[in-house]
Amino acid sequence: MYRPVNHGYIEVVVGPMYSGKSEELIRRLKRAKIAKQNIVVFKPHIDDRYSKKDVVSHSGDSIEAIPIEKASDIYNLIDEDVQVVGIDEVQFFDEEVVDIAIDLANKGVRVIAAGLDMDFKGEPFGPTPKLLAVAEFVDKIQAICSVCGQPATRSQRLIDGKPARYDDPIIQVGAVESYEARCRKCHVVK
Ligand code: ADP
Ligand code: ZN
Repeated sequence: MYRPVNHGYIEVVVGPMYSGKSEELIRRLKRAKIAKQNIVVFKPHIDDRYSKKDVVSHSGDSIEAIPIEKASDIYNLIDEDVQVVGIDEVQFFDEEVVDIAIDLANKGVRVIAAGLDMDFKGEPFGPTPKLLAVAEFVDKIQAICSVCGQPATRSQRLIDGKPARYDDPIIQVGAVESYEARCRKCHVVK
């Protein structure tokens, strides 16, 4: 796809878990690197799924990233000559990330954000909906439903193998929590 060359803009890649958001973010960033652009990648400090320093996809691709506590840390970690800013797991940042993405785009930066559009309840997740609204380019991608094999748009939360309840606490001591991709029909929230 052709993109503007004379000003900045915001791209957002959203979908459920396992839909390939990290893969797509990494693909776009690697191509920007091939084009010899000055890129910096951020991810929230809390997400250390595989690596503290990299964005890693479930299929094993990776790119170096800087874990940050809050979105405004981005300003301390970029130079004047930054051309592309990547942000993974954007749903975990505060709403300020939206203003920062807008500000960077206004200053000429290509901002590429990837993250969950919905939480396990199927409700809009954190700053993502606002970011979708202000972005120039949006890609909503699907995974494969673990139950029926249709395109999956939701993330199913399981606790000890059973669908989590709407108000189950985020961290349950002693319980085994897992997630899988599911379609609208197979997604269960009790
Ligand atoms: P996301 O960042 O959206 O969680 P990743 O980019 O980390 O996704 O991983 C996508 C990869 O996950 C796929 O290319 C595939 O290899 C693997 N995968 C595992 N389970 C599924 C699934 N249910 N649907 C699609 N891909 C899956
Ligand atoms: Zn299904």
